[in-house]
Amino acid sequence: MAESPGAFDAARAAAWITASARLIGGAADRLTELDTAIGDGDHGRNLTRGFAAAAEKADGADTPRGVLTGAGSALVSATGGASGPLFGTFLRRTAKALPDAPVVGPDDLADALAAGVAAVRELGGAADGDKTMVDALDPAVTALRGALAEGASLPAAVERAAEAARAGAEATIPLVAHKGRASYLGERSAGHEDPGAASTALLWSALAEATGADDG
Ligand code: ADP
Ligand code: MG
Repeated sequence: MAESPGAFDAARAAAWITASARLIGGAADRLTELDTAIGDGDHGRNLTRGFAAAAEKADGADTPRGVLTGAGSALVSATGGASGPLFGTFLRRTAKALPDAPVVGPDDLADALAAGVAAVRELGGAADGDKTMVDALDPAVTALRGALAEGASLPAAVERAAEAARAGAEATIPLVAHKGRASYLGERSAGHEDPGAASTALLWSALAEATGADDG
């Protein structure tokens, strides 16, 4: 049973991971197409396998921190490619930055997600505009914090974050890649959406689902 919409508990954290697995599995073909255009075509399969493994671990803890730590570790073990460690780091560092409590408030969640994004930057060394998942992650946390600062509820703020992530992913289309496999293509990487930014946008849509859903 989930808490009220403003609260983030283990049930909502688990719902985030299972919704991510469903949305990513459903978009696997599109993610693979994007990665075929500017990478090696494994992104859809990589992430589908990784999030399926993460979702299997999502029910085993009674705090959001425990849920996301377990899911992040499963993701790192099961996901191939560059994106496995990056998404795993995002979840594990978000988890580590959360208070170790059964229910976490909106600002603590936003701060923890920001720590997760900072860890992805640190691990991958990508700057804004390098045409990576950072181009979706960064606008999402910025929008989340901005919306909360304006007094939005957690579900409304996460919805804004998900929209910002989608816009950020779409904005990678004209960019030239400077990190990861797509950077080998140089100028030819322009004209395609970055697969990792596209999957990141799905992760934020999943979080919007998980934080906004009614009980049951
Ligand atoms: P691989 O490139 O090893 O085949 P995937 O296809 O699973 O791995 O993931 C590719 C995605 O990973 C890219 O679209 C990009 O968003 C992300 N990515 C790759 N390298 C980096 C990096 N250094 N920093 C941040 N994100 C990165
Ligand atoms: Mg790939």
